[in-house]
Amino acid sequence: HADVAMYAAKDRGRNNFQFFTRELNRVAEERLNLEAAMRAALERGCFEVHYQPKVNHLRRIVGVEALARWNDPQLGSIGPDRFIPVAEETGLIVPLTTTILRQAFAAARRWNLGREHPLRVAVNLSPRLFLSGDIVAHVACLLGEVGLSPSQVELEVTETVFLGDSDRAVSILREFKSLGVSLAMDDFGTGYSSLSYLRRFPLDIIKLDRSLVTDLEHEEEVAMIARAAISLGQSLRKTVVAEGVETQAQFDFLRFQGCDEFQGYLLSRPVPEAALSQLLADGGVIPKKPV
Ligand code: C2E
Ligand code: MG
Ligand code: MG
Ligand code: MG
Repeated sequence: HADVAMYAAKDRGRNNFQFFTRELNRVAEERLNLEAAMRAALERGCFEVHYQPKVNHLRRIVGVEALARWNDPQLGSIGPDRFIPVAEETGLIVPLTTTILRQAFAAARRWNLGREHPLRVAVNLSPRLFLSGDIVAHVACLLGEVGLSPSQVELEVTETVFLGDSDRAVSILREFKSLGVSLAMDDFGTGYSSLSYLRRFPLDIIKLDRSLVTDLEHEEEVAMIARAAISLGQSLRKTVVAEGVETQAQFDFLRFQGCDEFQGYLLSRPVPEAALSQLLADGGVIPKKPV
């Protein structure tokens, strides 16, 4: 009997192993396909930018976040949560970010021509790119090319960039500061947050992660953490932005706690440049939905 049991176990082991390698192959193959498709899409200029407004407490649009969009003729629409990791691993993040930065800067320049209070355009920089050699010079060069003032630009980074060589991260942040762009910590309140980072790193803005916003209506503890994070940001004189605001109740709570800016589906989904231009032409204030 023992023998039989052992054979059975071995067999199962082999099956698991086969399943496991098959699964690995499938994942690897998908990666390769995605990588190839991305290269082609980059060459054909298939990556677009959508813009999600950020509003102040009066619901006036004060800035936008640029978000990469890929609608592939063959593969359909692929979300950034799928293609950004592949881009990071393959190095395609460099040309991808270049096209996003260039499009976003050019759009901001168009929106801000003759505006008394220029919008700030925020672009996400992935950790690997952020820590790469010449990112500051690269951004400076693109700003010059487009003719956009650095004061109209925000760069969003996640705290992952602080986990490795943090001296290096600090020096890159400082270079960006002397260039004149603003720096935001994205997804604040997730991961290893982050009290010491706030002191050490020259950040202007903290963006409360959507997870803190989503649950604050239903979980007293989440509401308390959100409140503490906002008041911490305020004491350190950071601009505090809440992301993922979906309900009026969340907006009211965050506003009452002193949050400076709000971003989320309650106000607007990310939209193409033309739709954002239309929102601005309509007065740049996002009306409250009737209840
Ligand atoms: P993120 O920077 O935290 O961007 C916010 C994400 O939340 C966006 O998803 C946005 O569409 C979504 N969002 C905004 N408001 C709401 C809301 O009220 N409810 C819900 N459920 N979601 C909301 P998206 O565009 O899919 O981007 C996901 C992530 O991909 C971004 O997170 C960012 O980390 C990354 N990403 C997007 N574009 C770029 C890019 O150009 N470069 C880099 N490096 N990363 C990017
Ligand atoms: Mg972001
Ligand atoms: Mg975010
Ligand atoms: Mg997020």
